[in-house]
Amino acid sequence: MKIAVIGAGAMGCRFGLALMDAGAEVVLCDVWQEHIDAINKNGLRVLRQDVSSYVKIPATTDIKSIGTVDVVLIFTKAIHTEAAMKQALEIMSSTTPIVTLQNGLGSISVIEHYVGTERIIAGITNYQSDLLEPGAIDLGADKPGFYTKFKALGSACEGISRELYRLLKSAGMNCEISDDIMKEIWEKLAFNNAMNLITSLTKQRDGYVCKSPYGFELSELIAREVCDVALAEGVNVDYNSVVRVFERVRESSVHITSMLQDVLQTKPTEVDAICGAVIEKAAKHGINTPHLKTVFNLIKVVEANYEHQVLHL
Ligand code: NAD
Repeated sequence: MKIAVIGAGAMGCRFGLALMDAGAEVVLCDVWQEHIDAINKNGLRVLRQDVSSYVKIPATTDIKSIGTVDVVLIFTKAIHTEAAMKQALEIMSSTTPIVTLQNGLGSISVIEHYVGTERIIAGITNYQSDLLEPGAIDLGADKPGFYTKFKALGSACEGISRELYRLLKSAGMNCEISDDIMKEIWEKLAFNNAMNLITSLTKQRDGYVCKSPYGFELSELIAREVCDVALAEGVNVDYNSVVRVFERVRESSVHITSMLQDVLQTKPTEVDAICGAVIEKAAKHGINTPHLKTVFNLIKVVEANYEHQVLHL
């Protein structure tokens, strides 16, 4: 199976490697020339529990050089999904499915606009990966609680979805074809809306937000609003299962969320896909989301004023 990974950053490299290890023909594609040059020159440097190795993996900035593929995996940040999707059209046949495991809601609607729902395999992952420098990623330590769940949104892609499942499993990743992927996506969205936004506004790791009763209470209020919107959308989310994740984070996590990483690096965040998309759907259903709106507006202020940040007296 020939797979193009568009957006070969931290997660694109992680999944590209896993799929290649399992026997797929993988090509990484990214717009970041320095990163692709480093991969092509030395191999991708992969740090796994403090041990570094170099892995040869095809990588390019020239999408057309890839030729037609059986599957496209988009792993850009959500703000770049549309640009990635336009590039993907260059290497797709009339049946090639697009896989998205990105955070937020926005990416599915963007992809749908180009290829329709039938061609989408959508899902979530809580595996982690960090970009260290051009050509290098850190996979950290795998925890038993890490998983990837996905599902073909149309019956036409079910065969490819099963094949991806087989490949990821044989690469040693914990994965599942979900019975109700929209429930999984919305529950992760409820978690991300609380954790990513509060950690970014307070500049704290997730575990410390949850250890604070004030942080925990605000997380619950935000998650409740997201779950209300999901229920109005006809998605059968379980609010209590989101709260149980906050409890687990409180006990054992010290993760710097991807949104906080973006804020610390003064990059644009995925706030529109994670939070803005929910607020839009809430408005459509006439649901009031005061806590979501507050954290959304605050992140927008942060994002618009990186160069004016007050860092000390
Ligand atoms: P990243 O910033 O490390 O990688 C994104 C890559 O996309 C970059 O290398 C960038 O150059 C590239 N890119 C941007 N526009 C492009 C385009 N038009 N064509 C090709 N490449 C393009 O991001 P990441 O951390 O890998 O996150 C990707 C997605 O996965 C996000 O939605 C994120 O929320 C989600 N996610 C990340 C993690 C994590 O631990 N990093 C975990 C779970 C989910």
